[in-house]
Amino acid sequence: MSKRINNSCEVLIVGGGVSGAAAAVAAARCGMQTVLVERDSFLGGAGYSGLHQYICGLYLNGEDIPVETLNKGIVREIVSLLNKLSPQRTIKKIGQVYVLPYSGEDLAFAFSSLCGNEKNIKVFFNASAAEVKKKSRTITEVVFYQSGIMHRIYPGILIDCTGTGDISAMAGAGFELSPSGKRQLAGFTVRLKGLKDSTEILSIKVPYYLAQAVNKKLLPAYLRFTTFSTGETAGEGFCKINVGGPDSVKREQTVRKDALKMIKYLAKKLPSFKDAYITETSLRVMEREGRRVCGEYTLTEDDVLNAGKFDDGVVKNSWPIEIWDKKKGTIYKYVKSGDYYEIPFRCLKARGIHNLLLAGRCISVTHEALGSTRVMGTCISLGGVAGKAAAHYIEKGEYPLEDKFSLK
Ligand SMILES: Cc1cc2nc3c(=O)[nH]c(=O)nc-3n(C[C@H](O)[C@H](O)[C@H](O)COP(=O)(O)OP(=O)(O)OC[C@H]3O[C@@H](n4cnc5c(N)ncnc54)[C@H](O)[C@@H]3O)c2cc1C
Repeated sequence: MSKRINNSCEVLIVGGGVSGAAAAVAAARCGMQTVLVERDSFLGGAGYSGLHQYICGLYLNGEDIPVETLNKGIVREIVSLLNKLSPQRTIKKIGQVYVLPYSGEDLAFAFSSLCGNEKNIKVFFNASAAEVKKKSRTITEVVFYQSGIMHRIYPGILIDCTGTGDISAMAGAGFELSPSGKRQLAGFTVRLKGLKDSTEILSIKVPYYLAQAVNKKLLPAYLRFTTFSTGETAGEGFCKINVGGPDSVKREQTVRKDALKMIKYLAKKLPSFKDAYITETSLRVMEREGRRVCGEYTLTEDDVLNAGKFDDGVVKNSWPIEIWDKKKGTIYKYVKSGDYYEIPFRCLKARGIHNLLLAGRCISVTHEALGSTRVMGTCISLGGVAGKAAAHYIEKGEYPLEDKFSLK
């Protein structure tokens, strides 16, 4: 029989993306024996492997340049660590929003340092959670595998930070999943070098030439929604390919081949692309939308656009609803300038399971509201809140009361 290891902990977090790593740090700082289980070999999840250029959802969008992040806590600490690691990267306004340029390496390093400083955190990398057992409405056991070894873990409370809501689904929690035609497009980013005169104008020219190629059936239709942005160094640029359809190995292989075709086509049409070559891609085609687990409240588009405030509001956000649509491309709907909405704690409480919390991309929101809540700045803050609330649950046997919420 293969080896089995049994263990218990107070707080178990599945998923070491930005929300999971933040949740682990927050729980450990409250004195909790914390276990973090991550399928990949790094912290930061999509924030590391997605080749994103900016952390969104950190600041209040308005006239004045923000001096601080909208939310306090771990998110502010992360920003300060990133500033120390790369002081040249400072807050930037793009259109109506403020973002923080960053590198995935810095982000993963910042989270590794924070987790490494907490003696109460044990991280299992390359470890996949596979099964959840419940007694009545309480999770009693989670099974995960690491290097062929089966681990059974008996947690006091579980936080789902898988992005996809995998662990909640395993626990039998209800969830919403948009049909693949309505789901937000997934993304695959390629980093290019060797561009000549890589100016902002390319962000208009690239989609224009790609639309022409699609109309002439020289390239597949989905490449029409590819965006281009310049990089930080001379000759560097990023193409973000946006693709629909179900997640599959075939889709991944197709997108990788089409990315090469696309760059060859652009090299023929645009002198700036003549010597361009791909230096790096995102780890895989990355999903923007997955399961949205049903919580005690479901945040809606109206809540976001009307800057809704709640007695149990725990995270503030001013990021617009950003939908990557299969037919229309990108659609933005903005929160009133200078204002923000709140995410109530009830969106983090899985409906019907006492000791299951949600953080990051899989919280209880509608398809539209997810277009705003899913950005990294918000996910880090959600993780921090979930970690603290989990500690409260372990210590007091209940979550903080909604009208006396003390986690803000
Ligand atoms: C194409 C694209 C572009 C984006 N661009 C930006 C941008 O520019 N700026 C921005 O702020 N945001 C951007 N986002 C959004 C952002 O990256 C994510 O929504 C956010 O990082 C989600 O964080 P998370 O912690 O909820 O989940 P994730 O980062 O997805 O982390 C979940 C983690 O859980 C792990 N996991 C899952 N299942 C299991 C399991 N069973 N066992 C163990 N581990 C498991 C995964 O390996 C992963 O590391 C973009 C997203 C996409 C897809």
